Amino acid sequence: MAFSVLPHRDQLGVKDCPNLYVDGRWIEPRGGESWAHIHPATHETVVRFAVAGAEDVDRAVRAARDAFEAGPWPRMKARDRKRVLDRIAGLARAHAAELNHLQTLDNGLPVSSHAAYPLGPEYFADTFEHYAGWIDKLGGQTLPDSGGADDVMAMTLREPVGVVAAILPWNAPLNLFCKKVAPALAAGCTIVMKPSEYASLTVIRLTQLLEEAGLPKGVFNLVPGTGPVVGEALISHPLVDKIHFTGSRRVGEHIIEVSGKGIKRVALELGGKSPQVIFDDAPDLNMAAAAAMAGVSTGLSGQGCSCLTRTLVQESIYDAVVEKAAAWANSVRFGDPFDPSTTSAPIINEKQLDRIMGYISRGAEEGARLVIGGDRPKNAELARGNYVNPTLFAGVRNDMTIAREEIFGPVLAMIPFKDEADALRLANDTSYGLAAMVCTRDLGRAMRFARGFRAGKIGVNTFATLPNLPFGGFKGSGLGREGGLQGIEEYTEIKSVYIGLSGR
Ligand code: NAD
Repeated sequence: MAFSVLPHRDQLGVKDCPNLYVDGRWIEPRGGESWAHIHPATHETVVRFAVAGAEDVDRAVRAARDAFEAGPWPRMKARDRKRVLDRIAGLARAHAAELNHLQTLDNGLPVSSHAAYPLGPEYFADTFEHYAGWIDKLGGQTLPDSGGADDVMAMTLREPVGVVAAILPWNAPLNLFCKKVAPALAAGCTIVMKPSEYASLTVIRLTQLLEEAGLPKGVFNLVPGTGPVVGEALISHPLVDKIHFTGSRRVGEHIIEVSGKGIKRVALELGGKSPQVIFDDAPDLNMAAAAAMAGVSTGLSGQGCSCLTRTLVQESIYDAVVEKAAAWANSVRFGDPFDPSTTSAPIINEKQLDRIMGYISRGAEEGARLVIGGDRPKNAELARGNYVNPTLFAGVRNDMTIAREEIFGPVLAMIPFKDEADALRLANDTSYGLAAMVCTRDLGRAMRFARGFRAGKIGVNTFATLPNLPFGGFKGSGLGREGGLQGIEEYTEIKSVYIGLSGR
């Protein structure tokens, strides 16, 4: 019998959700609209959930505004606000298995990837605890008088930025939620959240946990729905102070245009076309080649913003690395995402599936050599879902479309290079700048690349995503940072105060 995700839905107790969460209450949307969640592995309808209209967004933003202007949250003692964030962390740990499985029900992330730290509840809880820790430490400064009148004092105050519109993509609900909500709450902001229409179930459950943790009403509001309706209403709402968006570059550029009206603050976490540079002195060539292919074909199947989708390989080892990467692709297993032997996710929807297949055709047309993949699994069970076989192109030039545009699927482009200078030039010859990795044993070379890469997240032989490390992009990969001290500063404004002490 073909696999089904519906028994897991029933086991998790997931039911239709007819409500939005606004001003501390679960309310019906004025227009009564809903969205059917279609699972990408099977095309089964999992549930329907309520989606907001522009009027509902307005109610949610006004609730957040009132909570910011007159509610207790921005004025609460650091100790008390910290306790709420710690309670959210505790609830995430207590519901870890459920949250992991909800992500699988949302986007098909295989349960074999639940151990991946940045995608899971442990990272979520650690991030809330990290930001709970900043609440009683982040402040302004007193500064020396540097000129002007005598007998004065100068200081800065750090204050919450206000009402935040937080907009998420579909690929990593737990990670993306905590990276925005934890620092925004820690700073004393109020939030209106729009999850992706393709992955709202985890976020709906997280909203219930935030409610259980005792957030005052209006501090967090949830308005699921589509980009053109809910997203547009949020980014153009005059009472929103800051838009914090993660998603595609296309929508990011649009947000910059819209946010100009009203001079809204904007942070953007966008896509990438990130390079992995493999030298012949890499500590473990087999590992480097396998990791290159695994990075785009296991877990989310290349649907990750910081996937290293351009592999730059030194000429002397190029053929060997191509061969090892191709061989590794045989270990990919598609199937029931709730089966622990499944390694790789389906593509989130049919539109994205068509996009990926279009890029694959373009790669071949522009003269890249298709080494493996380029097609979809033939077996009837998998043909129901949005699967694409792991695809490797060799002989890629950096000016080909598959080397320049974010594909967001299981497609790897391998490009040969001669020497260090050539590798760094190719690595940086991109309009993106999210992540980059160098594989070498030579410490000097590693540091030259760490300094030379024009990207926000650098790996030397390996990678990590940690709550205390800032994450974000150079160039077309975004504006601002999430994580660490910079992640909470994004949700604050600085005010200068100049005090005359003489009474004159
Ligand atoms: P997307 O841009 O299509 O959608 C992201 C969100 O924006 C969704 O909630 C969507 O409904 C909303 N949206 C769409 N149109 C809108 C509009 N006009 N106004 C306001 N909101 C609108 O992206 P996606 O397909 O969900 O996600 C994939 C993209 O996200 C990739 O480019 C990936 O690289 C990027 N991403 C970046 C990071 C990061 O941290 N840098 C992390 C994950 C994903």
